Amino acid sequence: MNENVGTEKERSAPDKDVQENAAIVEETDDEGKNTKQIVCINCSSKILPPSMGTFMELEFELVSFKGEKEIVKKFFKVEDMFHFDNLGFTNTVDNHKFLSCADCDLGPIGFHDLNTKLSYLAIDRVQKI
Ligand code: ZN
Repeated sequence: MNENVGTEKERSAPDKDVQENAAIVEETDDEGKNTKQIVCINCSSKILPPSMGTFMELEFELVSFKGEKEIVKKFFKVEDMFHFDNLGFTNTVDNHKFLSCADCDLGPIGFHDLNTKLSYLAIDRVQKI
């Protein structure tokens, strides 16, 4: 059992990640559900009620609001499309639809997987109130 060898250095390295995750923990409960109402950062239109999303990390390429390529890693997974308050959908690309604000069309703020029927809301692109 050499599992402790070399962990000291690894443990002290990712300070930034620890801080980021701490901020997310504040916004989620023990099961990783969002504790706050999620609204559009542009027009404050309601997007997702509390407890309807589950925090998860995955890597997905989602263009930024300015149209630049970006890898997004933090999402709230939403099991059922009807759990959203309001939501717009854009074009389908490779079995994914992109999510946008139903009122002001700001997006993409996440994606919907047509195979699994699961939706993923990009945490950094929405506002928690
Ligand atoms: Zn909006």
